[in-house]
Amino acid sequence: MSGISAVICAAGTGARAGFSENKILHAWRGMPVLLYSVSAFSALADEVIVACREEDRARIDALLSPYPNARTALGGVTRAESVYAALGACSGEIVLVHDAARPFVTQKVIADCIESVQRFGSGVCALPATDTTVLAEDGCIRSVPARQAVYTVQTPQGFLRCDLLRAYDEAFRRGRITEFTDESGVYAAFVAPPHLFLGDRANKKLTYPEDFLPAERTGIGIDTHAFGTGDHIVLGGVNIPHTRGLIAHSDGDVLAHALMDALLSAAGLRDIGYYFPDSDDRYAGADSMQLLKETLRLVNAQGLAPRNVSVTVLAQAPRLSTYIGEICNNLARALSLPAARVAVAAGTNEGLGYVGEEKGITVLALAMLG
Ligand code: MG
Repeated sequence: MSGISAVICAAGTGARAGFSENKILHAWRGMPVLLYSVSAFSALADEVIVACREEDRARIDALLSPYPNARTALGGVTRAESVYAALGACSGEIVLVHDAARPFVTQKVIADCIESVQRFGSGVCALPATDTTVLAEDGCIRSVPARQAVYTVQTPQGFLRCDLLRAYDEAFRRGRITEFTDESGVYAAFVAPPHLFLGDRANKKLTYPEDFLPAERTGIGIDTHAFGTGDHIVLGGVNIPHTRGLIAHSDGDVLAHALMDALLSAAGLRDIGYYFPDSDDRYAGADSMQLLKETLRLVNAQGLAPRNVSVTVLAQAPRLSTYIGEICNNLARALSLPAARVAVAAGTNEGLGYVGEEKGITVLALAMLG
């Protein structure tokens, strides 16, 4: 067989993603969502047809210019009408239909889809269900299908173009098109049971705003406190005896402060002074580890959580090596992280500058969120 056409469905509005524009035009990790699947399919298909809305067409045409085998076709109001229209614009013997909102499709998945069509006449990308699925009615479970019989269906879905076109013709002619959510349903109703092939868990659909959040975000935080009178300092919630203390409105936990700023920064939030101003009496003598937990809540409210944190303390004195383990455990507990995801290092400044002259302590912190 020769001639492979890919139809990429891009005619939705992306209303559930909450953007003012079509979500597949939204830039994600430096590239519009649509182009991830266009580039994957254009490498393996002879032609790529992007079914789109009239209002997006000029923009998509411009995006497709680096892909000589890709072009747009005007979609319809529903997904089925869009695919049907695009099928009419295709010339390949095999057609692969894919949702533009699944940018993580790999060339292996596409190649497996093509191979399934060549061997069985159809290939529907599917994953075995990992959760138990149930059939419900009026909020009650009516039956529980055996889990090994349940699959979730994704795209791409590949067919012989003449078969799929015939199935769509029938579905429209009989007024049954609204019964189907994708090609596999239409094909199953009018041609044959479509053949499944194993997809990829990474091939998920971007639907909701949180799906578009960057997977990983980093932030940096730095804090410095000067030495004053006292008999101990506090680092990461650990009291460390010393001949002086750190001057501060709170408990002066310079390490916790730097880490809070790193976390807030990674979450795209304002800095520590904004959320915990030292002009506010509530924070006089405050336990900074409690503030660190408050910071974690602010980060969590953004749908993010720390993946790992890394802290470096610059202090000429006191010597900190015997306290590192306890500091690490305290931070891990406060951030709900395994201790192995928390790194704390300490060093002197070789006698140089304000740190070396024992005038103060500086802490640098890095946080990665996901
Ligand atoms: Mg501070």
